[in-house]
Amino acid sequence: MGEFDLIARYFTRPVRRAALGVGDDCALLAPAPGMQLAVSTDMLVEDRHFFAGTNPERLGHKALAVNLSDLAACGARPLAFTLALALPAADDAWLAAFARGLFALADAHGCELVGGDTTQGPLNLCITVWGEVPPGQALLRSGARAGDDLYVSGTLGDARLALEALQGHRPLPPALLEAARQRLEQPTPRVALGLALRGVASAALDVSDGLLGDLAHILRASGVGACVDTSITMNLIAASALPESATVLFDLNFLHQCTLAGGDDYELLFTAPAAARAAVAAASQASSTPVTRIGRIEAEPGMRLIDGQGQPVVHHYTSFDHFA
Ligand code: ADP
Ligand code: MG
Repeated sequence: MGEFDLIARYFTRPVRRAALGVGDDCALLAPAPGMQLAVSTDMLVEDRHFFAGTNPERLGHKALAVNLSDLAACGARPLAFTLALALPAADDAWLAAFARGLFALADAHGCELVGGDTTQGPLNLCITVWGEVPPGQALLRSGARAGDDLYVSGTLGDARLALEALQGHRPLPPALLEAARQRLEQPTPRVALGLALRGVASAALDVSDGLLGDLAHILRASGVGACVDTSITMNLIAASALPESATVLFDLNFLHQCTLAGGDDYELLFTAPAAARAAVAAASQASSTPVTRIGRIEAEPGMRLIDGQGQPVVHHYTSFDHFA
C-alpha cells in the first residue's frame, strides 16, 4: 500500500461543513460569518506520550481528544482538523483501528478531517484543530480576579494512577487498572462544558500537565494567587469510588501527587465570580459534566494549599515539563 492509497483508504471522507477536504494542496474552511477561528496543535510521540504497542483505536481517540480539549478550554465549537502522521509501516490492521477511534470521536463532535501529511518514520501523531467562537467570547487564561471561585470538571489523577501501574511502580488490582487506564488512553474532551461556560467563566484552561502546574498558568496570566482545598481535590480521583478503593491502597501523599500533579487529566480548570455559582451549576447540568469547586482566587500572588481544617499543606508537587 503506497502513501496515496493509504490516505485514500483511511483518511479521505466527504466533508459536510468545510468547503474542501482531503485531496488538494489546501483544505478550505467555511466558518460561520463573523466568527473567530480558534486554532490549536498537539502532538503525541511514541515512548514519550504513549507506550509502544498502545491500542491503536484508543490512540486515534486520544490524538484528537487532546486537541478538542484545547478548543473546549477556549469555549470554541469544533469545526475541522488536520492530521500529520509519521508511521513506521503501513500496517492495515493498525491503520483501520486508529481511523476507527479517530473518526468515532470526530463524528461525535461534528469535527471533520480536512487534510494532513503522511510520512514514514517513528510513530508520531500531530493534529491541528480549528473551532469557532463569537468574537470576544473565547475563554482565556487571563481573566481570573480576586474573589472568584476556582472549579475543576470531572475527576483528577486516574491517568497518573494508570501510568504508575503500567510503569510497574504501583501495582493495581485489574478492575482498578482498567478503569484508570481508560482515563489515560481515552480522555473525554469537555467540549460541551466549555461551550456552556462562555459568558460565565472568567478564565479557563485544560489540565494536561497536572492541576497545580496548570493553575499556575492561570495565576500568572491573570496576576493573582489562589487557595486550593486538598481535602476536596484528593477525593476527585475517580478510582476511589471503585470497590477496590484507591484511597485504601495508597497513602495520602501519593493521592495528592496523582490529583494535584498527575497530568493527562484533560479536565477544565476554570474560575467564575462567586455571583455566578448558579450559572456554573446550570452549565454543568446543561453539559452533563460534573464540576467541583476546589478553591478561591486571591489577590496575593502564589498558591496556597489547605487541608479540611483550613490548615496549610506543605507540598512539593510539580507538574510535568518535557525539558525540566
Ligand atoms: P502535498 O504534496 O500538497 O503536501 P500530500 O501529497 O502530502 O500533499 O497529500 C495529498 C493530500 O492528502 C492533501 O490534500 C493532504 O492534505 C492529504 N493528506 C495527507 N496525509 C493525510 C492524512 N494523514 N490525513 C488526512 N489527509 C491527509
Ligand atoms: Mg501541495
